[in-house]
Amino acid sequence: MNVHEYQAKELLKSYGVPVDRGFMVQSLEEIAGVLDQLPGPGYVVKAQIHSGGRGKGGGVKLAQGKDQALQQAKNILGMNLVTNQTGPGGRLVSRLLITEAVNIDQEYYLSLLIDRAVCKYVFVASTEGGMEIEKVAEEKPDSIIKIHVDPFSGFKNFHGLEMAGKLGFSGDQTKQLTGIMRGLYNLFIEKDASLVEINPLVKTKDGRLLAIDAKVNFDDNGLGRHPEIMELRDVDQEDPNEVQASKYDLSYIKLDGTIGCLVNGAGLAMATMDIVKLHGGSPANFLDVGGSATAEKVTEAFKIILSDPNVKGILVNIFGGIMKCDVIAEGIVSASRSLGVKVPIVARLDGTNVEQGRKILAGSGLKIIPAGSLNEAAKRIVAEAESYGHSN
Ligand code: GDP
Ligand code: MN
Repeated sequence: MNVHEYQAKELLKSYGVPVDRGFMVQSLEEIAGVLDQLPGPGYVVKAQIHSGGRGKGGGVKLAQGKDQALQQAKNILGMNLVTNQTGPGGRLVSRLLITEAVNIDQEYYLSLLIDRAVCKYVFVASTEGGMEIEKVAEEKPDSIIKIHVDPFSGFKNFHGLEMAGKLGFSGDQTKQLTGIMRGLYNLFIEKDASLVEINPLVKTKDGRLLAIDAKVNFDDNGLGRHPEIMELRDVDQEDPNEVQASKYDLSYIKLDGTIGCLVNGAGLAMATMDIVKLHGGSPANFLDVGGSATAEKVTEAFKIILSDPNVKGILVNIFGGIMKCDVIAEGIVSASRSLGVKVPIVARLDGTNVEQGRKILAGSGLKIIPAGSLNEAAKRIVAEAESYGHSN
């Protein structure tokens, strides 16, 4: 789960990481009151969406004086902000963060994540802050610094000392940096984060280290023990279909192809997408209906797949282990009837009660194409979707 910059900063602050002063607003009426509480005359108006690269997309503006700040807020609030991370559809800006403008001397990058390859935490830092870290890694790989922390011994001051040395800090800034790293570490562990990132961490003209942008990702599997983090969720920032899917316990991720996939089991869903690709098609989604799909769940899954206008065909690939093929077949039939599905459906069922399942499909009077093997099924749906795409 993602949260907004202002929420990430509040969390960082509660772990002793210094952040710039700022306030979140949701309407223009609130702005005057907020500007009065900041020192001025420099302000920064920042779109709050779950995406980086907002600056380049026009969602972060520096303003001199209150009038300019208000003007920038008018421009940004309500805009559809497109960044290199949002996709062409962009995101609606319904919240702003108004901060004091900071006199920046230098920008750094600092993050904490898990290095699974060595089973340790890793701090990643660079003197090339502000930029996208992926680009820095590509263009100036030598400027990326990594310091591992063993989870059994935990964070120690020497980690901070080592990082400060590598970033070129000394004296008081070493102490500040160590405090910031300790804060990131404690936040990461206590809140079950999967990423904590400050980009940029800045050194101000008067020598202070401050986080002026922040991002925290949480491990969804840890959210059950953090109701206070769940409260920070902003579903408006999530794909509406993915939100709907999660209500029905379906794992749905939208992709940009044309073949809708309805599969039980994440591994089988991945394999199904691979084999669709192998036959020259491209999947419109990843969808795992889980081990205990009911007719209702299958109907919901069809609805979600069909709400994507790019879908030109649906491949159903169900292996009945815990789940019974006849139950799934009933689900497919009732969903296609009630939704009036027009796109071709290829169904590959196997496992428990497969014969009854196939009979139900064949006897439904609907054009649901049965397939024996996954390979055959994938080949067929790619061909069917192609001809459906041409004739519609
Ligand atoms: P992002 O584009 O989504 O990563 O948004 P950021 O919050 O990182 O802002 C983008 C850039 O705006 C930063 O890298 C800074 O260069 C600049 N910026 C943000 N806040 C301030 C500020 O208070 N003072 C100055 N001088 N620049 C700022
Ligand atoms: Mn940033």
